[in-house]
Amino acid sequence: MSTTMHAVQIPQHGDSSVLAWVPVPKPSPKPDQVLVKVAYAGVNFIDTYQRSGLYPQSMPFIVGREGSGEIVEVGSEAQGGFKVGDRVAFMAPGSYAEYDAIPTLAVAKLPDSVSLEDGAALLLQGMTAWSLVRQAYKVEKGDWVLIHAAAGGVGLLLCQMCKHLGANVIGTTSSEAKAKLAKQNGADYVVDYSNGYDALVEKVNELTGNKGVHVVLDGVGAATFDVSLKVVRRLGTVISFGNASGAVPPVNIMRLAEKNIRLMRTTLFQYLTTREEFDALSSEVIELVAEKKLDLAVHKIYPIQDVKHAHDDLEGRKTTGKLLLKI
Ligand code: NDP
Repeated sequence: MSTTMHAVQIPQHGDSSVLAWVPVPKPSPKPDQVLVKVAYAGVNFIDTYQRSGLYPQSMPFIVGREGSGEIVEVGSEAQGGFKVGDRVAFMAPGSYAEYDAIPTLAVAKLPDSVSLEDGAALLLQGMTAWSLVRQAYKVEKGDWVLIHAAAGGVGLLLCQMCKHLGANVIGTTSSEAKAKLAKQNGADYVVDYSNGYDALVEKVNELTGNKGVHVVLDGVGAATFDVSLKVVRRLGTVISFGNASGAVPPVNIMRLAEKNIRLMRTTLFQYLTTREEFDALSSEVIELVAEKKLDLAVHKIYPIQDVKHAHDDLEGRKTTGKLLLKI
């Protein structure tokens, strides 16, 4: 059996030019791991942070945090009842590769009704969105919710979920085409924020009778943080969960006292610290997809050799919904 494979392994942090499909050693599963022959890798903004060094990694580093495929080997003490041939989705480092060895804690079996494409698209962004609206802030019927970057990967899922939960959904996007898509996915109102935030403040005030929204779900980060604090209502919640425009600078906590604002900075990984937590969250999202209650809105499937293109498009705000790499 071959001891090498190909993967997108980077030798150092940098822009997308560091991404290359190169030969590397093929991993073997540890006792509580399974080896997956990867069919598709999901692309996420976090991949760009790990590549650039915003989230530093030790080098060399195989990029990618999620994927789907078939189990080809099972570790000697693997839990979870996995067997060779199972179709699975997984969320673990090293997915831009032909093979990935993954702790069983981070693997979910896919029902026959869920394709491998959808399998690679649903875990990271789906569990992020679901944990935001069910755990970080429990969205209730009638809530006013503001979703930044509403046509993005997490954004479109949030629009669908918030609508499904009965909220009034306001989205922001940078173009007309993205606004249309956000509306098709459940946003009631969409504001273009590419030329500043005055129109957003005005629209939120008009819609909420000057009260502001109950919750802001902000994955854009540095650029939107101030306006998020501005449009949230008294006793409202701002959840910052990403840095697409750069990291939010340190915040003076006294700014929250103006309206008794709750401010959270969440990461999905803190909702997934045990097998039970992973199984509960992943199975709820898989069920939403299997029952066709959640559309994963795959924007484009790039061949793995075009990985640079995928990162450039994502960072260049040229995409909507989910990006996949076909291995
Ligand atoms: P998206 O598909 O949402 O892409 C990012 C979007 O952000 C762009 O399409 C763009 O939409 C908007 N944006 C605004 N300003 C910029 C900028 N300066 N540069 C690039 N994009 C910008 O990505 P994901 O769905 O993968 O992730 C969305 C956010 O969620 C990211 O910040 C990511 O880090 C975060 N995230 C956090 C997790 C967590 O555990 N906390 C887990 C998963 C994701 P537009 O053009 O409409 O402005």
